[in-house]
This record gives sequence, C-alpha cells and structure tokens, in this order.
Amino acid sequence: MNESTTNSMNDLGPRPFAYNGPRLEVSGVDLVSLAEQYGTPLYVYSADNVRSRVELLQRAFAGVDHTLCYAVKANSSLALLKLLGEMGCGFDIVSGGELERVHRADAEAQSRVVFSGVGKLAWEIDAALEAGILMFNVESEAEVELLSARAQALGRTARMALRVNPDVFAETHPYISTGMSEHKFGIAIARARAIYAHAAKLPGLEPAGVSVHIGSQIRDVAPFAESVKRVRQLIEELRADGLNIRYLDAGGGFGIEYGRKAFDPAERVTAYAAAIKEVIAGLGVHLLLEPGRFIIAQAGALLTRVIAVKQNGAKRFVITDAAMNDLIRPALYQAHHEIVPLELRGRAAQVADIVGPVCESGDFFARDRETEALEAGDLVALLDAGAYGMSLSSNYNTRGRAAEVLVEGGKARLIRRRETVEEMLAGEVL
Ligand SMILES: *Cc1c(COP(=O)(O)O)cnc(C)c1O
Repeated sequence: MNESTTNSMNDLGPRPFAYNGPRLEVSGVDLVSLAEQYGTPLYVYSADNVRSRVELLQRAFAGVDHTLCYAVKANSSLALLKLLGEMGCGFDIVSGGELERVHRADAEAQSRVVFSGVGKLAWEIDAALEAGILMFNVESEAEVELLSARAQALGRTARMALRVNPDVFAETHPYISTGMSEHKFGIAIARARAIYAHAAKLPGLEPAGVSVHIGSQIRDVAPFAESVKRVRQLIEELRADGLNIRYLDAGGGFGIEYGRKAFDPAERVTAYAAAIKEVIAGLGVHLLLEPGRFIIAQAGALLTRVIAVKQNGAKRFVITDAAMNDLIRPALYQAHHEIVPLELRGRAAQVADIVGPVCESGDFFARDRETEALEAGDLVALLDAGAYGMSLSSNYNTRGRAAEVLVEGGKARLIRRRETVEEMLAGEVL
C-alpha cells in the first residue's frame, strides 16, 4: 500500500473520529484509553459534532421562522437531550416515556415538543396536555376524537396538526419509508380537508398546523420539496376554509452517508434548506423540522473488543463483545457501518464476517468485510452508530445495555453506566 492509499483509507471524512498517527481519536480524545477506562461495548459521542450539525441546520434555515424538533427516538439519552435543549431545540416525541425524558433533561423545552405516533394512548395524551406541548401530530380520525375528549376532560386546548400522507416516493430502505399511501402512517392528504373541518368543530381542539414525514435516511432533496409542496397547497385550502394554520411541520428523515462516499454535510443541508425555503416562500408559517439521524448518527461510535477470531471452512469470523442487542441496524435494515481499528498496526488486510456472540445468525455487523487483520484483544469502532444504536438496544440474551460516554471540550464523561445483571432482573417475580 502506498502512502496516499493509506491516507485515503484512513480519512474518515466529516466524522469527529480521526486518526492521530496510528490511534483513533474522537474530538482529540484517545479512544483506546476510553475503552480501557469504561470497558466495552461502549458508545462514545462527540458533543462538538452534535453542536456543529445543529448549527448547520440553524444557519441554513436562518431567515425562516423555524424550530428544530430533534427526533428523540434516534437517541434518547438524557445528557444528549439536555445539550440539544440548551441549543434551543424542541423535540419530536413518540411516547409518554420520551416526554418524561424531555421533562427530566430540560423541563422548559416541553413547550417545544411535538407528539407524533400512530397509536397514542390516553395517559400519554394527558401527560402531554399537562406539560403544555406545542403540538399533537394526529395520525387518524379516531385519534382526533380521543384528543378532543382528553383535552375536554382536562380543561385544556390541544393544538393539533394532521400528519398527512403525501403519497411521495423516497428512495430508502422499505422499513424506514413512510410517505406512500400503503404505509400505516398519517392520513391520506386528499381526505385531510374534511377531517380538519370536523376537528375545528370539536371541543378542546385547535387545528394549528399540518405535518408530514416521508421516511428516514433520505438523501435526495426532491421528495422533501415535493411533499412540502403538497402540504403548502393543503394549508392554502385550509386557510380558505377559515382555519388559522400557522405551523408547517416538514418532518425529519434527512440522511447521511454511512460508507466512504464523499459527504459534505454543510453542502447537503444548504441544498435541503434551499429546496424547502423555495416551496414555502411567502406562505407565512412557522416551520418545524424533526431531524434525528442527521444530528446524532455521525457524532457517535460503538467501541467493541474482539473476543476471538475463528475459521469455519472457507469463512473467517471475527467475534466481538458487542452484538445485535447493542446495535441492531445491520440485522434489521441490512445497514452498513464502517468498522475501523482503534489502533492501526500495519497488518495485511483480511476479509471476515464481523459478528457478535448472540445466538442468532442475524447477529452480524458486517459480512465479507475487508479490514486490517484483526486478532483477539483488538479494539474496533463501528462508526455512525449515534442514531438508532443505543435507543434500539435491548437485553436480548440477558445482555446488559452498553455504557455511554460524552466527549466535550477535550474531556470525556460517563452519561450512562453499564447496565448490571441485577438491574436487568429487578422487575421480575418468581
Ligand atoms: C423517526 C422520525 C423522525 C426522525 O427521522 P430521522 O431519519 O432520524 O431524521 C422524525 N419525525 C418522525 C415523525 C419520525 O417518526
């Protein structure tokens, strides 16, 4: 390998993870030391990277009245929510549990919460009404009735938007595409006007916005522009019907590049913002955006140690101490994560399946992946694991959840202890 190939192989692009000589660092902090101090598997996040992504979005939408409502489900760790709340972000929640997280991280930010989800329960609606959230994104006619009933019972008024389904196709994995008429999400846009007219007559409801969310990990800006265009037309019709619609919630879903493809987040955000701004020009709405992945995915990595390397027939397996219960994206979405050593040792390249110890053949992080040869004891990082990593983790195989560390201003701090066996069993009754 010549010098320039080595350099490009080890250039990790817009991520906060970068090699300093042979050692991988996050925002200048050595990762081997973190893995040794806190153990593995370990999630590590860069606060600086989170901030810079939020600032990119804030700058790109400057000049438009807007609020970034970070999608809590992407990564709901309290310390991250606190950091985002301090930056002025609101939150997009999908459960009463997520509302409680926002309450604990930044109680004042509850006034900037939008509540999405296809199956809200009465207790969750009640908690959100008591918290005085900004808006309910209602996803069915039955939920319009339920929201009205709960608001009336509590003597409150619920600001609401219908989440409309714009029937726009966006290229992404089928499990994370949501904006086509065959999906369970939202209400067909053609039926929205009649439902708004009905909602406006119900007690306790104030139709105040229209929302749309077409899916996740969408890198093309055209489907966003197309769906917002359809929403704009609906807003104009609703206003003609006499409704005071002042919020346009354009959803989340803006994607990143997981592989080695060149990726300039600033450039992408500028194009995304320009497309949306053009469509809403002159409409006079407060724009809500619900980014999750774009803000948090690349700020995080999952550190894991190689337990063993074994050869089964023609295949080589690298077995790590992290597994699908820690990071399920490869198993669930066939997702790609770059896997890089925390310490370059100049070994020859080798192809292997990189797998966890869980008793499922689906428990793999990568198949036939070429990396510098790995040996037992080596440490590696799975990059871009900040979104839908920890938040989708489970106790499968009675494995405790990983610890989490946040790096900020050159210092690391533990933001979640490793879960113990005692904690996992605490709720069970013999
Ligand atoms: C999941 C979700 C988001 C966030 O999606 P990302 O791809 O992480 O940006 C935003 N809004 C709603 C309604 C969601 O369900």
